[in-house]
Amino acid sequence: MRYDNYFNKERYLRFANAKFLTGSREFFSIEGCLSIPDKTFGVKRFEDIALWDDIGHGRMFLPPASIVIQHEYDHIYGKTLLQTGLEIRNEDVIQ
Ligand SMILES: [Zn+2]
Repeated sequence: MRYDNYFNKERYLRFANAKFLTGSREFFSIEGCLSIPDKTFGVKRFEDIALWDDIGHGRMFLPPASIVIQHEYDHIYGKTLLQTGLEIRNEDVIQ
């Protein structure tokens, strides 16, 4: 299985019918989304993930690639941060 830190090794990654295999080391990621402008959400993500692609290649990813992949994977199943996360409002931030 290949282990990729960043997208910069390959400018684009193609996954057709990718299957999410497993993840480890959950944490609370702070994210935004172009589908929900000007809002910030906290969402549980795995730091490390493994995917299986349609031609039988398994690949593992670390942040930030693993976070982007989990975010986009949710979109494939029609989920946005409105379903998967908790909105963080300015008044929630301790200064
Ligand atoms: Zn999004």
